[in-house]
Amino acid sequence: MVDTVRVYVNGVQVEVPRNAFVIDAVEKAGFRVPVLCYLEGLFEEATCRICVVLVNGRVVPSCRFPVSEEAKIVTEGDELTRYRRTNLELLLSTHRVKCWSCIRKSNCSLLEVSKQLGIEGLPVCSECPLIGDECLITKGEPCLGPLTVAGCSAECPRYGAPCVGCRGYLSDPRIWEDATVELYRKYRVDVKEIEATMKFFWSNLPERLREVVTKGGKP
Ligand code: SF4
Ligand code: SF4
Repeated sequence: MVDTVRVYVNGVQVEVPRNAFVIDAVEKAGFRVPVLCYLEGLFEEATCRICVVLVNGRVVPSCRFPVSEEAKIVTEGDELTRYRRTNLELLLSTHRVKCWSCIRKSNCSLLEVSKQLGIEGLPVCSECPLIGDECLITKGEPCLGPLTVAGCSAECPRYGAPCVGCRGYLSDPRIWEDATVELYRKYRVDVKEIEATMKFFWSNLPERLREVVTKGGKP
């Protein structure tokens, strides 16, 4: 006979094994929390803190926090969203964004969680199915996918047309620099064409971005 405890998840009562973690009770109650580092049975170290919930009013990482008798668990709310967004922004601030050449793109949990939490920090390339020499830039096209905020499922490159940046540019100069060095300069994309394309939607184009892309490298 498995020793169980009774807990409440968003008011729903569930029984789970005494050695279970809060995330197990959340899922048993039919709810879900965003996760990033958590891989059940493989990686349960609570390093990303994206899966935070409230247990008896206390913010804890659900993937590693043990259940306790009569625990009151809350999985959604403004406070939790703030915590999750802050933790994700911290992770993104140290993540070297190179989606255009990343083997995980089109199946990226960082992108999925960013979308769930409404965080804009990743480029259109992260959603683009074109890999390696399928990438339009390798054909000399002035695709702005590396510099543009994701969220459109790379609608245009998906149909063979270069991204012209209608969703706006990313604000991280490291991305401008890496994209310029690793793509625009490497594949000799015409600088004048890129500049003209950038001016389509980016009427307030920052001088630094224009300089990086047109002068090819360090701001
Ligand atoms: S085609 Fe454009 S959006 Fe797709 S990976 Fe290449 S640069 Fe990025
Ligand atoms: S132009 Fe707009 S819709 Fe097309 S890929 Fe770029 S951001 Fe997405």
